[in-house]
Amino acid sequence: MSEANRVWRLRERPFGDITEDVLSFEEESIPEPGDGEFLFRLNYLSLDPTNRVWMSDMDQYMPPVALDDPMRGFVCGTVVKSHHPDYAEGAVVSGLGVWADYQIGTPQLVRPMGDTGPIPVDDAFSAFALVGPTAYLLLLEIGEPKEGETVVVSAAAGAVGSIVGQIAKIKGCRVVGLAGSKEKCAWIQDDLGFDEAINYRTEDVPKALAAACPDGIDVYFDNVGGEILDACLKLMNFKGRIPTCGLISQYNATEPVPGPYNYAMILMQRLRVEGLIPVLDLPERCPEAIAALGQWMAEGKIKVRTEIVDGLENALSTVKKLYSGANTGKLMIRVKDL
Ligand code: NDP
Repeated sequence: MSEANRVWRLRERPFGDITEDVLSFEEESIPEPGDGEFLFRLNYLSLDPTNRVWMSDMDQYMPPVALDDPMRGFVCGTVVKSHHPDYAEGAVVSGLGVWADYQIGTPQLVRPMGDTGPIPVDDAFSAFALVGPTAYLLLLEIGEPKEGETVVVSAAAGAVGSIVGQIAKIKGCRVVGLAGSKEKCAWIQDDLGFDEAINYRTEDVPKALAAACPDGIDVYFDNVGGEILDACLKLMNFKGRIPTCGLISQYNATEPVPGPYNYAMILMQRLRVEGLIPVLDLPERCPEAIAALGQWMAEGKIKVRTEIVDGLENALSTVKKLYSGANTGKLMIRVKDL
């Protein structure tokens, strides 16, 4: 292989928003797989809010990316050279990798995609690698939504939130979503069937939530933390559940973020507030989530929206979209079509 390998490396930890000097994009030689390893070429790179967490040295659920190391990411690629009997050349794989054209895979971190049936591989990677199992398992295991209950979800037009709302509708709940634009609110209500949509950037959130949830909130699926969490806490019903999925409103914070003012509601209403990272904490349940989601997608009961940007060179400028809300759906980079 005479081609060079383009690699994004973490050079500085971000302070506030991600800036251009945080990562460098360089040409390097293509690595050689050792015994039991394989080399794969990147087809799709998933861009996720947690990228900002991994770049930082904040307290987190796995070690941060070390300075000067390749940037970590969820990847989908094709095996081009293999020293592992279960990974034939040409096999499509996905898992935890790095932002680079060519990379070494091991079975611990990268698995064969297998047959995705009628769902194209890029859609399957978009929906099933991370966000689908996250939405399904956090909502059903921690949220435990019951028919007739009110479920509120933040970042509702995003990758996780849009799936959460649709599952809650399938379970017979009243679903209220918060999103950051008129277009996103129209999409979740008109196309995805949410009962109510609140534009948290233009509306008075506590007032709009109280109006949209006349019977209170039974499940608040928290993707953002901060002021929206506080407003939801105030309206939680007795024995309500708050699956804590993410805190995107504070990933770029430059100083300590105040705790929720309505924290007392956890005691007063005997709430269950619990975080979960399903792909790490419940990997054995992910196939069940993927099977259920695949079925619902095939039946047209769940729609997923993916925003694909071409070119590995655009990864840094594109990942920033997640924190301004400029993305519409699951954000991915296409490096090479499958
Ligand atoms: P999204 O596709 O939802 O993109 C992020 C969205 O967050 C943006 O589009 C924006 O939408 C919204 N947002 C950004 N800043 C703010 C803010 N200050 N206040 C409110 N909303 C904001 O990303 P994902 O679906 O991949 O991730 C959603 C959340 O789930 C994140 O917190 C992420 O860390 C978490 N997550 C957790 C996992 C787990 O295992 N626990 C796994 C995957 C994701 P808008 O225009 O509506 O503002």
